[in-house]
Amino acid sequence: MKNSIFVREALPPEKEYVLDYVHTLYEPAGDMIFPLSQRSGVTCRPLVAVGDPVLAGQQLSECAENPALGAWSSCSGTVKAIERRPTRTGEAECIVVENDRKFRTAEGVGVRTDWMELGRAEILRRIREAGAAGSAAARYPTSARLDSLAPGTVSRVVIDGSEWEPLISSDDDILRTFAHGVVTGLRILLRLFPGAEGAILIGEDKQRALDTVWDAAEDAAGIQVVAVSAGRPLGGEAMIDRLLAWNNNSYTSERACCLVETPAGANAICEAVCSGTPFFRRVVTVAGSAVARPGNYLVRVGTSCAELLAAAGGTRPGAEIKKAVMGGPITGLSLSTLDVPVQKDTGALLLLAEDGEESAREAMTECIRCGRCARACPAGLMPMLMLKAAEKCDQKEYARLHGAECISCGVCTWTCPAKQPLSQLFAYMGALIKK
Ligand code: SF4
Ligand code: SF4
Repeated sequence: MKNSIFVREALPPEKEYVLDYVHTLYEPAGDMIFPLSQRSGVTCRPLVAVGDPVLAGQQLSECAENPALGAWSSCSGTVKAIERRPTRTGEAECIVVENDRKFRTAEGVGVRTDWMELGRAEILRRIREAGAAGSAAARYPTSARLDSLAPGTVSRVVIDGSEWEPLISSDDDILRTFAHGVVTGLRILLRLFPGAEGAILIGEDKQRALDTVWDAAEDAAGIQVVAVSAGRPLGGEAMIDRLLAWNNNSYTSERACCLVETPAGANAICEAVCSGTPFFRRVVTVAGSAVARPGNYLVRVGTSCAELLAAAGGTRPGAEIKKAVMGGPITGLSLSTLDVPVQKDTGALLLLAEDGEESAREAMTECIRCGRCARACPAGLMPMLMLKAAEKCDQKEYARLHGAECISCGVCTWTCPAKQPLSQLFAYMGALIKK
């Protein structure tokens, strides 16, 4: 079913999508790196030792708290070291695999199964054991919740492909090239929660993705494909649910919960359930003014960003990288080195020849209480008040202002005329409170 929704206050039209690039397959040659800690405060236990041979699809580490945070080898080779290496969040213990470039797969990987024949417990086991769900787990912690939610407790399952940040087009690419996988991933999730409605959200400017997914979802009952006019994040699960409910005239204040996944996560669920393939490959946008051949690349998780840049032709002649970012220009993390690995939730690698961060810092002024951040916040928060609490490190006041509900979307920072580093401070407060 086709539908469309419109979101208030789009961000300024500064998008520069890499829309016309369909991904290039890149097979890595160098060592592959798998951090034991993929999220602050959560460390995994290694399941291999130095010298062990490994195969693509073999589990390397496990995480008791959230199975999706374990690591699966994306290549065949030998465990070379378990040691501290740079990662996107600083140095951390990593499993380093010497890649033999044969990409031999573990037993069971790629073996086709008819998912319609599988029961709920087997589907959940396959998703769990492939680390498939929750590819943007900070905002959509799907995998940790799938096991705990009983059928009947979920009203809606949404694939959020609205991809609002400038420069990035990896979701658009996945929707166009893996449309069947994304739709099947959603159908599998709907099978786990009978009675729930399904929706796939796609930016209205991505006509080819809309057409392809509309075709793929044509015969799938209970799935809407929704064109979204968002030039800003739609928010967390509760906000997306409310938005769709208003749009469908089905809003009630007592709703069961809504599950949201990314297109990469939905495709990974399809691959995990239908062919026993762990989430070890994804599309990454490599873009920015310093890149010689910007585009989308289908790469193996664990590939070093330095190698990925080389695959994209290296830097443009005369260009010097002033800033490297993993993720989008608004919500991504600045990198101090390119010797960090691509991870399951790496949608983009941006290499900028102009140092926007420094100029933004220079231009920072006092908050002028204009209220733009509050009007733009998709979680309905009051960033200017949270800013005051964060500046004083006042955890009590920060909690009173519902700071824990911040989804780290970065929109407040983007809209603030005073150039206050709002989302960065909120991420710090979030980590502090968690500790
Ligand atoms: S406070 Fe800022 S970063 Fe947090 S949800 Fe609101 S707009 Fe996004
Ligand atoms: S947008 Fe910036 S200047 Fe305006 S109220 Fe928010 S923090 Fe203050």
